[in-house]
Amino acid sequence: MNSTPLTCRNYIDGNWIDAPTLKESRNPADWREVVATFPNSDVEDVNKAVAAARRAYKTWRLVPAPVRSEMVHRVGELLLERKEELANLMSREMGKPLTESRGDVQEGVDCAFYYAGEGRRLFGQTTPSELNNKFAMTVRVPLGVCALITPWNFPVAIPCWKALPALVCGNTIILKPAQDTSACATILTEIFHDAGLPPGVVNLVHGAGQVVGRELLEHPDIDLVSFTGSSTTGAEIGATCGRTHKRVCLELGGKNAQIVMEDADLELALEGALWGAFGTTGQRCTATSRLLLHRDIKAEFTAKLLEQTSKLRLGAGADDQTQVGPLVNSAQLERVKDYLEIARSEGAKVLIGGEVATEEKFKYGYFFQLTILDEVTPTMRIAREEIFGPVLALIEIDSFEDAIAILNDTAYGLSSSIYTRDVNRAFQAMRDIEAGITYINGPTIGAEVHLPFGGVKQTGNGHREAGSAALDVFTEWKTIYVDFSGRLQRAQIDNR
Ligand code: NAD
Repeated sequence: MNSTPLTCRNYIDGNWIDAPTLKESRNPADWREVVATFPNSDVEDVNKAVAAARRAYKTWRLVPAPVRSEMVHRVGELLLERKEELANLMSREMGKPLTESRGDVQEGVDCAFYYAGEGRRLFGQTTPSELNNKFAMTVRVPLGVCALITPWNFPVAIPCWKALPALVCGNTIILKPAQDTSACATILTEIFHDAGLPPGVVNLVHGAGQVVGRELLEHPDIDLVSFTGSSTTGAEIGATCGRTHKRVCLELGGKNAQIVMEDADLELALEGALWGAFGTTGQRCTATSRLLLHRDIKAEFTAKLLEQTSKLRLGAGADDQTQVGPLVNSAQLERVKDYLEIARSEGAKVLIGGEVATEEKFKYGYFFQLTILDEVTPTMRIAREEIFGPVLALIEIDSFEDAIAILNDTAYGLSSSIYTRDVNRAFQAMRDIEAGITYINGPTIGAEVHLPFGGVKQTGNGHREAGSAALDVFTEWKTIYVDFSGRLQRAQIDNR
């Protein structure tokens, strides 16, 4: 793999802009490797990008949606062409295994093809008027300039989830990616450029959330902020956007649980738990971090879980043999270490892992051992707070009712899962679980792009991404009445 650092630049009004000050993005499997350098942008860069997006909006909103969507379709084709290159870059930049990085890019492809189709729909409604010779309908109209603030864990998929529906709907965008994945954001923006999107329609501004992100929230010419990231940052963004009267869509943290009932297919539930807990090194908002095991199967299931966990291969994401990669950066490593201290002090028992991985091959990376904690109770902090690492907490349950109550006993509500062969319980779970997503006999991870994605409680603020639900984020409804009677007709008065 080519290890020459990529020089990332801001992309404003169709131009790549050289920056006076640069920061570095490093490989989390070997921090000696600089994967990319990127601008440490300031408020002036944000102002230029917003001005360009505002200018471009005037003409972009008038391009017919099916024509806009042809460019989005082209984005999908170019992503496919550059899939392997992007996947390799992603594995080096944020650490996840190649198979998962390919999946991340594929999610962008799927998203492009799905929203390209939406460009020929974007349906409104026609409905009868209560008055004669009057026509009533609704149409979707774009909002204007959208700020898209994204995390590092899905560096292609999440920006695509936001950018592609926003563009099809006629908005212009400013992407502010996480600093850990500036290189992936740069290649994605190259693809937007090559797909023929006009200058100013897509803009990229790298840099710190506290500077670039904050300015986007405050800027009077931004109409919408779509944010995916931590609940702490999300709360601040929600408050600022309330004060500055912006539409805001928040996709935040999770504390997802998988239930395994005594009648479950245990082999299937085991595969699901391993993938749900350790996929992307547990750094998914939908990761399984609590495993609720029925007491009748707990001992047998735990033994198998430990055996299989010990076989998972930890390593560099770019290595084909790796099944679980490093954590994304030193702050994440420290966070997971801290939670292990908390777990021990709360009385949890470490069954496997629990430490920074110290083998020679890991010495320049942010590797943490795959960790399973037992004797966890629902009130412990490790059962309530998002850890975002390869740490799975086992909680014993006595009954189905007990399982649902414990699963729901969290501030979050993103994903959930139950393994059971009892159809009645499955349907009760679908009804009673408080989460945006519920899987029956599947792990908590694995969203598909044509269905709504998002959560309840502190996971979000009621919006959904993906699917046709995203159109409600990126458009306003306009209601239109056409009176062809040639006279004044008064609703609620003249027809009574
Ligand atoms: P983060 O909140 O630290 O950062 C996310 C983005 O916000 C980054 O681009 C960052 O630069 C920017 N930012 C930071 N402070 C800001 C501020 N004050 N104003 C404006 N922008 C600011 O999150 P992260 O560490 O990159 O990602 C991990 C978190 O994201 C986890 O909590 C995870 O659960 C969550 N996440 C949620 C979803 C979901 O869809 N619900 C998906 C992926 C990740």
